[in-house]
Amino acid sequence: MTAPQLVDPFERAVTYLRVSVTDRCDFRCTYCMAEHMTFLPKKDLLTLEELDRLCSAFIGLGVRKLRITGGEPLVRRGIMGFFEAMSRHLASGALDELTLTTNASQMRRFATRLADCGVRRVNVSLDTLDKAKFAAVTRWGRLGQVLDGIDAAVEAGLAVKINMVALKGFNDVELFDMVEWCGSRGFDLTFIEVMPMGDVDADRLDQYWALSELRARLEERWQLVDIPDRTGGPARYVRLAETGQRLGFITPLTHNFCESCNRVRLTCTGQLYMCLGQDDDADLRAVLRAHPEDDRALTAAIRNAIARKPRGHDFDYSRSEVRGRVGRHMSLTGG
Ligand code: SAM
Ligand code: SF4
Repeated sequence: MTAPQLVDPFERAVTYLRVSVTDRCDFRCTYCMAEHMTFLPKKDLLTLEELDRLCSAFIGLGVRKLRITGGEPLVRRGIMGFFEAMSRHLASGALDELTLTTNASQMRRFATRLADCGVRRVNVSLDTLDKAKFAAVTRWGRLGQVLDGIDAAVEAGLAVKINMVALKGFNDVELFDMVEWCGSRGFDLTFIEVMPMGDVDADRLDQYWALSELRARLEERWQLVDIPDRTGGPARYVRLAETGQRLGFITPLTHNFCESCNRVRLTCTGQLYMCLGQDDDADLRAVLRAHPEDDRALTAAIRNAIARKPRGHDFDYSRSEVRGRVGRHMSLTGG
């Protein structure tokens, strides 16, 4: 029996759900959060049981890949119970992949248990290998702890992909070092352009480093061969001819990727965002709580939301003004 598909008005099948399980974090990265954040009241958050019910409803509607994010997913109390519960969908074959995006600060504690739940890969955010700069960009993070977390992931058999936000005047000088370090560890590396999400203390235009420039810099050292790998998201990939290493570029601002978008995002409060760059959302928490026993209203609400998935986003940094910015923080929707 084929699973019922969620197909949007532009004939894109939605098979990928990203779920933010908390808006909290043990770091305060300058591009992501203000130093003094007001977090959501606990009662607004979906409980782990509600998250299970929602994710399972999406899986029942044909979602094949689940990425857990935040905030920092591994600081949510009891989150391992949620991963353990989700692993039943891997075991049944309903889900192809269960994965997470993390700052790796808590990875030493959880890597083995994640692997036991069927997690095979993790995305780790790491913008610099310089201890002082790491402390500066994360405000509260310690590089040593994160590198140890990455080691723990490797020891547990998890494949690691590094995500590095490209920040002008900050990690541009480390570009080659970062590529070489990832190469030496066998990690894929993906560069991300800063997106205008939520109020932070820094000026976005000061931070913005176009990946077209970053790519040109890489070409001074290596030959970049475009490869057709696609994940249905904003990443485009190349291979370095000299080393075979894979690099990704996430360029929501300079490259339009919307036509192949296969994903939607669920916040930790149960709002479903059909597009990262648009404000339209569907309140699935209200439906869930109004119908505690029966998922029919919930699946109908999910289908209605997918029917509203827009063609694309409106981010634009051109004309030296940040346009199309959305008010919510990335930590709410999940990166
Ligand atoms: N705490 C986890 C982490 O840092 O990996 C998961 C959540 S974090 C919001 C997910 C990703 O979003 C990270 O790779 C982070 O670097 C990225 N991110 C956060 N704010 C961003 C922004 N304004 N523009 C681009 N990427 C951003
Ligand atoms: Fe926390 Fe991740 Fe945001 Fe950094 S990017 S503040 S680690 S949620």
